[in-house]
Amino acid sequence: MPIPAEIQFRETALDQLAETRGKIAVFVDLDGRMDQGGRKLNSLTRKSVEKLTGSDAFEKLPVGDLIQISYPVGLAAEAVCVVKLGRRPSVSEARRAGAGLARAQAGQDLLVLAGSNPRAAEIALGLALRGYQFDSHKTGEKTAPGKIRFMVAEPEILAKAAAPMAAVAEGVFFTRDLTNEPANVLTTDDFAARLAAMQDLGLDVEILEEADLARLGMRSLLAVGQGSDSPTKVVVMSWNGGKKGDAPFALVGKGVVFDTGGISLKQAAGMEEMTADMGGAGVVAGVMRTLALRKSKANVVGVVGLVENMPSGSATRPGDVVRSMKGDTVEIINTDAEGRLLLADVLWYTQDRFKPCGMINLATLTGAILVALGHENAGLFSNNDQLCNQFLKAAEAEGEGAWRMPLAKPYDALIKSRIADMKNVGGRYAGSITAAQFLQRFVKDDVPWCHLDIAGVANVSADTALAPAGATGWGVMALNRLIADNFEG
Ligand SMILES: [Zn+2]
Repeated sequence: MPIPAEIQFRETALDQLAETRGKIAVFVDLDGRMDQGGRKLNSLTRKSVEKLTGSDAFEKLPVGDLIQISYPVGLAAEAVCVVKLGRRPSVSEARRAGAGLARAQAGQDLLVLAGSNPRAAEIALGLALRGYQFDSHKTGEKTAPGKIRFMVAEPEILAKAAAPMAAVAEGVFFTRDLTNEPANVLTTDDFAARLAAMQDLGLDVEILEEADLARLGMRSLLAVGQGSDSPTKVVVMSWNGGKKGDAPFALVGKGVVFDTGGISLKQAAGMEEMTADMGGAGVVAGVMRTLALRKSKANVVGVVGLVENMPSGSATRPGDVVRSMKGDTVEIINTDAEGRLLLADVLWYTQDRFKPCGMINLATLTGAILVALGHENAGLFSNNDQLCNQFLKAAEAEGEGAWRMPLAKPYDALIKSRIADMKNVGGRYAGSITAAQFLQRFVKDDVPWCHLDIAGVANVSADTALAPAGATGWGVMALNRLIADNFEG
């Protein structure tokens, strides 16, 4: 897996261009102008580049996309990738250009003639994010990643700019690895161990075991995992980079390492995807990793509930009533609506213990959010306009889609229980809203809070702009930016 830290930045030296093997990338602006590297390449290839950039195909090419010249005359290289990119590209254009190069690279060595492009570090980030591969379980034809070199005017300055982006890429990769990992590998024990290993990065990591959770009264969370042989856990990760004593910002994640649905068993088709039902906890872990790697100046606590939802003789039954840590009772109508049972206790515990200045939870919570928003946007629910808008701004800047959905009292009628304080499903209509209404009952009114339903964006079956099919790591970049822009001293 190439990460920006492994991408080398070198000073532009063009004398060996003709002998360079692999692929060579060059940027041409919207008017067909190229810098020194491009001009040199153009003359070596007897103006092949110019011929291409003067063509209709290049004129119609979207900004950030590329066309390859295969086996170009005059070069030892296999291909020249001619990328259409303005002199001062936007962040998203630059990342898209990098992602395009990752697709074109196809395991070859790649030399990028970036000259003095001000967004070279963003191009490198796009290249790294799209170049990610999850192949640790493949024993056969693994494609060795080719070497990536950037030739730039000022390599030291660029290496410095790329350092925080390497921290972002590593956080995203951590989330993707966790989310892609199958459930027989990423058990609750294994997940907790991977988080505990982050103590090496300076994070405080604390693991609460079932006996601790029972003592705290987290019966709603424990009900989810009681049919599984894997122990239920809560892991608390703290990063204290801010002022001592300042209230932390809290991130809370749903970490169902596998969701069979429990006694309300899911149908067989597609059940294998439920290995990604820990995606929310995966994002929290990725953000914490990024914050530690870039030594964020914020106090942030990440709390995840790790549990497996299985049917067995000890599993929770539909109709069971449990008492949450807060004290409210829940009638469990459907054991497949387990995410909210988990979050109810983990949200309450987080507020009770840390008194956070704000709190965001992430969960692959409802299929209904896919019906509403598809794979383009996460559902965002909030009790606080300021925090909500701060998050939307950060998400937009990072190109991670999020759309605000309503919270409102009248929906509460749908989760009224005959025998307990509430029930855990609200029926077919407004399914993601009733889930959010349920969660809000476990959020104190004076805590600014957002709930992100990421069931549609955490894991996708087709490639996206910056990720191959599978886990996307959606949210790591937006949350990192939210914290950098609003919660650092
Ligand atoms: Zn479920």
